[in-house]
Amino acid sequence: MAVFSRCSRAATAARTPNAAASAAAFSYLIRPLSHSFSSSSSCSSSTFDPEIDIGRNKSAGLGTLKREPKGRNVQWVFLGCPGVGKGTYASRLSNLVGVPHIATGDLVRDELASSGPLSSQLKEIVNQGKLVSDEIIIDLLSKRLEKGEAKGEMGFILDGFPRTVRQAEILEGVTDIDLVINLKLREEALLAKCLGRRICSECGGNYNLASIDIKAENGRPGMHMGSLPPPPECASKLITRPDDTEEVVKNRLRIYQSTTRPVEDFYRIRGKLLEFDLPGGIPESWSKLLRALNLEDHGNKHTAAA
Ligand code: ADP
Repeated sequence: MAVFSRCSRAATAARTPNAAASAAAFSYLIRPLSHSFSSSSSCSSSTFDPEIDIGRNKSAGLGTLKREPKGRNVQWVFLGCPGVGKGTYASRLSNLVGVPHIATGDLVRDELASSGPLSSQLKEIVNQGKLVSDEIIIDLLSKRLEKGEAKGEMGFILDGFPRTVRQAEILEGVTDIDLVINLKLREEALLAKCLGRRICSECGGNYNLASIDIKAENGRPGMHMGSLPPPPECASKLITRPDDTEEVVKNRLRIYQSTTRPVEDFYRIRGKLLEFDLPGGIPESWSKLLRALNLEDHGNKHTAAA
């Protein structure tokens, strides 16, 4: 019962025009965390201190990051256009630093698949590439956080939230986000990456059939991004997301420019934005991203080749 009343308070508040009211309700669901930083075995995170290590990253232009008590779990956000690879890098980092990767797109797709009361309403919105309402997305995220809290989860890497300035204000009102990683990829590659995306209908693995070669031109360097082929056991079970058609992806890219781009400024002026230009595919980009975050991945030889 408590879960339902807390969620509905957040959802009701998100409907109100007052961001402060929304934040107050949402704070039941996202709380600042002050526990020890936890890590997976593949990470050298026993030496990781967000305050020291990320603050040291002068080249990233982070300025003075607002920091929470030394040693608590990370609360990071991934921003970036559709197709940039937020899910790929957020999921790898979540394994590395030992916090859950929470993708609001996945929460929406789970809801769609559940044929619950919201399902048909969401289907039309998502399949047109539009954003679902702040109220619905906060409700879904709140429920996910509550489940995690019950399991003892601490910290998070959010992927796909916030996507509007209003969502960012609400989040900022309830907890301290340490770092926002803004993934950037040359525009020519984004559409191809979305159209090449495939998911294994059985194991849920994410793959990409697009292999991108952009020639050097007018002083701009060329770029190669290899495909991410499925293993043989998934090859015959691949499906495409219904919103990964050319028309819908173009619409999602337009909506990103008009509605989500201002979220970058929201975090930039707060000194939390780490701009990260992807230099190519996973093998080059993963190690560069780790360097930017001052992290090490001892399993890198294995994972970066995936
Ligand atoms: P993308 O690959 O475009 O980043 P996602 O998988 O993150 O897509 O999201 C899929 C869809 O889910 C979005 O197009 C949108 O309809 C909905 N969605 C996800 N997150 C949000 C959010 N924070 N606010 C509103 N709608 C969202």
